[in-house]
Amino acid sequence: MSFSHALRCRECDREYALAPIFSCEFCFGPLEVAYDYEEIAANTTRETIEAGPTTLWRYANLLPCDLEYKVDIGTGFTPLIKADRLAKAIGLDTLWVKNDTVNPTWSFKDRVVSVAIARARQFGFEAMACASTGNLANSVAAHSAAAGMDCFVFIPDDLEQGKVVGSGIYDPTLVMIEGSYDDVNRLCTEVASVRPWAFVNINVRPYYAEGSRTLGFEIAEQLGWRTPDHVVAPMASGSLYTKIWKGFQEFHKVGLIDEPKTRMSGAQAAGCSPIATAYEAGTLNFVPQKPNTIARSLAIGNPADGYYALKTMEETGGGAAMVTDDEVIEGIKLLAETEGIFAETAGGVTVACLKKMVETGHIARDEESVAVITGGGLKTIEAVADKVSEPLRIPARLEDFDSALAARAEQSTTGTPKPAVPAGV
Ligand SMILES: *Cc1c(COP(=O)(O)O)cnc(C)c1O
Ligand SMILES: [Zn+2]
Repeated sequence: MSFSHALRCRECDREYALAPIFSCEFCFGPLEVAYDYEEIAANTTRETIEAGPTTLWRYANLLPCDLEYKVDIGTGFTPLIKADRLAKAIGLDTLWVKNDTVNPTWSFKDRVVSVAIARARQFGFEAMACASTGNLANSVAAHSAAAGMDCFVFIPDDLEQGKVVGSGIYDPTLVMIEGSYDDVNRLCTEVASVRPWAFVNINVRPYYAEGSRTLGFEIAEQLGWRTPDHVVAPMASGSLYTKIWKGFQEFHKVGLIDEPKTRMSGAQAAGCSPIATAYEAGTLNFVPQKPNTIARSLAIGNPADGYYALKTMEETGGGAAMVTDDEVIEGIKLLAETEGIFAETAGGVTVACLKKMVETGHIARDEESVAVITGGGLKTIEAVADKVSEPLRIPARLEDFDSALAARAEQSTTGTPKPAVPAGV
């Protein structure tokens, strides 16, 4: 059973009954789920969590919905991998990769949707909807299919094929908007006010956002009930980034871990970097941007949680970085070639920003770090399709194989492009 008891305004602290609402009537501040942490502490130990399912539902006591409404397609409890080869390549002593590419629809969005759809069912909604940069649409469509609910997903018209087909396959009503994500979101806010649907990132956003905390819970549990020195996570609306930190703090509040000292850093693509740009300018007030980057899953020009992300940077002594699209591709390749993990563009943003923050000294060599890899690479195959080495195309004869191999060896000593992984790693 859930220990959430109210929604609370993040700005003025006014409380509201749990309902499908998202902003304060008095100050228009965003609403956040409030919990009874004493009750959670009294009912939750490391052992009760460890005895739970190997999904995010092991943290049910900290989620804002009752278990009987869950739609469980296996989200969460993804691997935390010791990334020694990547660490060496970028100059860190200890690095872990939180591999959220292995979720049911290959992105961390399954976490937020699992929680949002459970709460929507508890409220009695019969249809799910969302405004999406791609991954959220995939996840809402999949979970709605599994629950037998109607589904309406809205996406911009410039998305990768993997993300369009990756929604269509679950047979939702898929609406493609001629415009950017920010246009999609504006339309959806209007639709949400007249249709009786649960828009996961609009009217049920307070519950949706709570799902991201499970990524923080898992990092702490998988490190042996402690937090790392540094976390680097990608930022679109800034929600995931802030909720990982909230998850660490709550684990401490209910007595599961020591006080977290983690520095939290955020990663953006230069072509859509309102939060990182504000960080560099030393302000908590970002200026919205018109996105232009291959990292489409992060292309939110007017980020709903941008202000709170900047506050989290200030509070934790973290920061933010931004990288070019070329660096994003190098980041995808570096992760794949060192750790065997094929990430989408958002993962390339995270790895490239991590590398940059080590180079600039923002992250020290001896800081134990975690890179949050949020989506799988087969969804954004266009980004790297012509950046990988050509196959050796030969007839099925041994001598052709031998001569092709010799020719390839010859070629690689005479100036083919520099590999992403430095020699000796
Ligand atoms: C949505 C998304 C993010 C970040 O989302 P926030 O809006 O900042 O919570 C990161 N990576 C991927 C792959 C995503 O789809
Ligand atoms: Zn308020």
